[in-house]
Amino acid sequence: MGRRKSRRKIRLRPKKKIPSVFQCPRCGVTAVSVSIDRKNGVVAVTCGACKLRYTFEYQEIYQPVDYYGKFVDAFVEEMGISV
Ligand SMILES: [Zn+2]
Repeated sequence: MGRRKSRRKIRLRPKKKIPSVFQCPRCGVTAVSVSIDRKNGVVAVTCGACKLRYTFEYQEIYQPVDYYGKFVDAFVEEMGISV
């Protein structure tokens, strides 16, 4: 039947790509922003609400959402929570 399976259903795509603000694992507010500093090769992920902040090495293959994932991981690790 030639149906393509790998396509996701998302059809309505606004001009913006992926949202760059995420939910904070500590305070729960959607105020986590990812700022990529290509010049210095640093990515800072910061919660605007509780000021939780981690920095990561910039890597081209990563999307902001990946840094957010690392951010959550780092937080979880620090808190010693096992998910
Ligand atoms: Zn927060």
